[in-house]
Amino acid sequence: MFDKILIANRGEIALRILRACRELGIKTVAVHSEADRDLMHVRLADESVCIGPPPSTESYLNIPAIISAAEVTDAVAIHPGYGFLSENADFAERVEESGFVFIGPRPATIRMMGDKVAAIEAMKQAGVPCVPGSGGPLGNDDNENLRIAREIGYPVIIKAAGGGGGRGMRVVHSEAALLSAISLTRSEAAAAFGNDTVYMEKFLENPRHVEFQVLADEHGNAIHLGERDCSMQRRHQKVIEEAPAPGITMEQRSRIGERCAQACRDIGYRGAGTFEFLYEDGEFYFIEMNTRVQVEHPVTEMITGVDIVREQIRIAAGEPLAYRQEDITWRGHAVECRINAEDPETFLPSPGRIETLHVPGGPGIRVDSHIYAGYTVPPYYDSMIGKLIAHGDSRASALARMRTALSEAVIEGIRTNIPLHQRLLADTNFQAGGTNIHYLEKKLGL
Ligand code: ADP
Repeated sequence: MFDKILIANRGEIALRILRACRELGIKTVAVHSEADRDLMHVRLADESVCIGPPPSTESYLNIPAIISAAEVTDAVAIHPGYGFLSENADFAERVEESGFVFIGPRPATIRMMGDKVAAIEAMKQAGVPCVPGSGGPLGNDDNENLRIAREIGYPVIIKAAGGGGGRGMRVVHSEAALLSAISLTRSEAAAAFGNDTVYMEKFLENPRHVEFQVLADEHGNAIHLGERDCSMQRRHQKVIEEAPAPGITMEQRSRIGERCAQACRDIGYRGAGTFEFLYEDGEFYFIEMNTRVQVEHPVTEMITGVDIVREQIRIAAGEPLAYRQEDITWRGHAVECRINAEDPETFLPSPGRIETLHVPGGPGIRVDSHIYAGYTVPPYYDSMIGKLIAHGDSRASALARMRTALSEAVIEGIRTNIPLHQRLLADTNFQAGGTNIHYLEKKLGL
């Protein structure tokens, strides 16, 4: 096992990784910006290195600074967390070239999955169901592109192969708008992602977001941990996640999960990963793979008992998976609320000092957060300050526990989205389960 791991992230996920390291007896190095000296994991880490000024481009995205921090502290491996450099193939490559272990997939795998056309191609070959579409990049032949769209059927969506974060997509409702939409998306993609490759998919009107968690080791073993429903979104940002996804049968879970695991074996995947699907009318449509740990991994951990971050570290150390597929069982239901430092009405960020903090507890409650009383939430980064997770025997009991936990939580000094979560937990459609990805924005009147 590794002697020392450098954690190339901040906030709650940095603390989550530190906890896994401690459990495994691994020493930790925290790297932080000048604005993050007071982060909880910086205090708890065996060593810490300041890697630059507050803007993330000069600190958490500063590859040379992170590599030199690993060199001066004699770290053996680097865990990228999520966001920042976690899906940056160049970073993974630099880490490995500098003699460190990257806790994640091989750089070539990250690169392939970052190209959505290549990713979809690989998934199709493995039998993972994809959205009906152009089956590759669109060429410059207008007649051919019109024909492809007619065959798929309107509405269609034009997507940039190199797109991400919900950018580089355009929905087309009729033939008259198709050609200009293709050329617009193409030029935007060239400017934003340095890659003008675009492709076409059927636009699904009212899907849910259902994703599968996988784990794969270097010895050709791959398993799935079932699915999560992350349909409660605002501006493509997930707000509430749960596992299992309401209404998904054991047959669907095993069938789609096994296809995902098989895709991992086919492409020589290594580490934890997530296959994202749109789910509509009982069918799954693959849209992309995330090659890192997800924010919402705890809901899967709660119902399977598998520590996903520990497995990531074990896999990176070359150990075989600790579980076979038949060892994985799903118990009860878990739901996660992302707690953001923001105004619950306007969604404007609300950084500042946390004067009073009371953390909820009780049976089935888990809090993954780096905040403490007296901590100042800096204005420079994502507004998420923690995650509240509730587990119960049934979905109803998990939701009831979440409601109690939300009512117990006290965070004073800043505004948070807890009132929004309380509204959603009281919503009868959410309570019934299975609302689609547009539900939250419609409810908010957006
Ligand atoms: P990104 O990498 O930018 O997150 P995705 O391919 O994951 O891009 O798509 C982001 C979101 O865009 C999806 O969660 C979904 O809401 C919407 N979307 C993408 N493809 C389709 C599609 N074919 N039909 C309907 N909505 C889509």
